[in-house]
Amino acid sequence: MIYNLYLNPMKTNIASIKDLEKESSVLEPDGISRAKLREEVVEKTEAFLMQLPFGKAYNDDSHSIRLLEHPFTENGEKPSKVFEEIVASVDKPGINPASGRHLGYIPGGGLYASALADYWADITNRYSGIFFADPGAVKIENELIRWMIELVGYPNSAWGNLASGGSIANLTAIVAAREAKNVTPENIRKMVIYTSEQAHHSNFKAFKVAGLHNAVIRNLNLLENLKIDPSSFSQQIDKDKKQGLTPFLLVSSAGTTDAGIIDPIEDLSELCIANEIWHHVDAAYGGFFLLANSVSDALRSINKSDSVVLDPHKGLFLPYGLGVVLVKSRKALKDAFSYQANYMQDAAEIEEEISPAEVSPELTKHFRGLRMWIPLRLHGVKPFRAALEEKYLLAKYFYEKITTIKNFLAFNPPELSVVMFRYESNGIDSNQFNRLLIKEIHKDGRIFLSSTTINGTVWLRVAILVFRTHLETIDLTLEILEELAARVNNHLNKG
Ligand SMILES: *Cc1c(COP(=O)(O)O)cnc(C)c1O
Repeated sequence: MIYNLYLNPMKTNIASIKDLEKESSVLEPDGISRAKLREEVVEKTEAFLMQLPFGKAYNDDSHSIRLLEHPFTENGEKPSKVFEEIVASVDKPGINPASGRHLGYIPGGGLYASALADYWADITNRYSGIFFADPGAVKIENELIRWMIELVGYPNSAWGNLASGGSIANLTAIVAAREAKNVTPENIRKMVIYTSEQAHHSNFKAFKVAGLHNAVIRNLNLLENLKIDPSSFSQQIDKDKKQGLTPFLLVSSAGTTDAGIIDPIEDLSELCIANEIWHHVDAAYGGFFLLANSVSDALRSINKSDSVVLDPHKGLFLPYGLGVVLVKSRKALKDAFSYQANYMQDAAEIEEEISPAEVSPELTKHFRGLRMWIPLRLHGVKPFRAALEEKYLLAKYFYEKITTIKNFLAFNPPELSVVMFRYESNGIDSNQFNRLLIKEIHKDGRIFLSSTTINGTVWLRVAILVFRTHLETIDLTLEILEELAARVNNHLNKG
């Protein structure tokens, strides 16, 4: 008897509802409590910022994180105690990505204006997934997409999405390519993906997540400078076609993570266009160098590709949580991701702007556009151009200087802001030496560098992308390298 569901068996106890309201009232602090909480957070974050120029870039002491093993209590704890725990257990151990002396992997930074934008977005909690719900929020995100479409040089037919990072952005592009090229369970074993062993591993992860791991995946031959060799790509396409296979996707890099080199995008694009291959350029690291005069020409031909990824949380120095995908064919992006649900019918009638939910796997999402829009509006584009140009020149400066220090050599002059270098000398195991050197650098902690291995050779890397990294940081880095190389030499000679 379904209608019984609507018959209330007991009178609701009003008093207990009121009790529950009171018990949960701390979830809505009043103005005075808000001010007190806010002041404590500001005090801690200001202390963090003030000590940034002096603190370590890497801290291998992880003892303090035991503090976090407390269970949650029923009645909560004092803010001062909770915030102290974050300072000691979260803000100290490990890499400090906010530090200008973070020169490892691909760094980011964390603009202050973005932090305030997140604060704003979280307090108002605007719904930025659907135009109907917040036309202004969606317009802000779409304005950013249009700005980046112009920056990259794509036509008006392009569209994009603000994702949480470069990995999800790469996945989005790869799914769009899969749909546009009609990869099906029936044909997948004959479909060919081309990439390079220097491509970022998030692309290989994306192949798997997108169900493309059963396709033929080829790592193309690389030139000595680690760039994809277009003529060997061309030969491979012909060979594959003769075997009855269907080439459908190329993933190249505009800024590889290891060496910061740019694949020959223009030549690769020509081959892709001639052979109807979707060309995806992973420019998560390098894309925003389009803003820097000295390097922008090397990135111009990205506009010949079908899709591209740029990471504002790298190249625009935003706090972590924003990676962007742009797809030349808006239709391809929509075909891959739009879905019509009945309960969304009110929203479907307003189509003035594309909603993020139509072009992404997400529905409800963080209003992450505001953290990019506010800094661009407040500061203008010029400081970003200057900072990126500065980073490139700093990398060049490092390259010129490191090769003048005894026994150090560099892989090649930087195309963007990464330099791979190593210590090499007769009569020593250079790989072992460089491994010991990176350990000393980590133990020292004043700067943070990372290392990589290419064809059996260990390289150290300096990757310059924190907006707080300046000339004095690079001079300090050179000093530290000389000092610690001497220390490793001493150890080895004694041992
Ligand atoms: C960092 C990076 C990625 C991954 O991006 P996340 O934002 O870390 O998910 C992908 N490709 C390249 C070239 C990168 O440098």
